Amino acid sequence: MEQLKERIRKDGRVIGNDILKVDSFLNHQIDPALTDAIGAEFYRLFSAEKVDRVLTIEASGIAAAVMTAKYFGCPLVFAKKSRTVNQSASVYTSKAFSFTHKTESNVIVSKEYIKPGENVLIIDDFLANGCALRALRDIVLQAGANPVGAGIIIEKAFQPGGKDLRSEGLRIESLARIKSMSEQNGVEFI
Ligand code: 5GP
Repeated sequence: MEQLKERIRKDGRVIGNDILKVDSFLNHQIDPALTDAIGAEFYRLFSAEKVDRVLTIEASGIAAAVMTAKYFGCPLVFAKKSRTVNQSASVYTSKAFSFTHKTESNVIVSKEYIKPGENVLIIDDFLANGCALRALRDIVLQAGANPVGAGIIIEKAFQPGGKDLRSEGLRIESLARIKSMSEQNGVEFI
């Protein structure tokens, strides 16, 4: 998605060799017009699928996921992150190691909001090692639902998550795929 790549080139900030900060338009301050265009692009890419629900994880995936859900005319559910395990029988839980916070969190979704047999489209802001996406797919499978694919805003393709999950059969569509990045040279896209 050219509009997104241009914005990353203009406003993204590389920290070290593997963190991209996009706080000015995606992760802290949000650009509504760009976020709407992202939702429209995910709708275009997955329009052949019947999507019953969109699923993301709090907090930074929510804005793009809500726009995507608006285009599909379906609800958005966001998984909650918690340090404590919720043992309740009324929730699905999985675990994800956070790439940015370097901590493990429990990922929780109420059983009320994903039903067996539903087609679920997963949306997230970044794909790095694939832990967050794996946890979300795990929850969809626990629910007896069907993960129709994952829409990722920025994939750091030099990290293994995308390759690993694609080889496991998950359809992943990323709007910007980063080949490499550094503080000196900025971001290079695939
Ligand atoms: P993964 O679980 O694939 O290793 O990492 C994906 C999650 O970590 C995303 O939900 C995102 O919040 C966060 N993340 C991973 N890499 C980056 C990055 O370079 N920049 C930002 N802002 N978040 C990242």
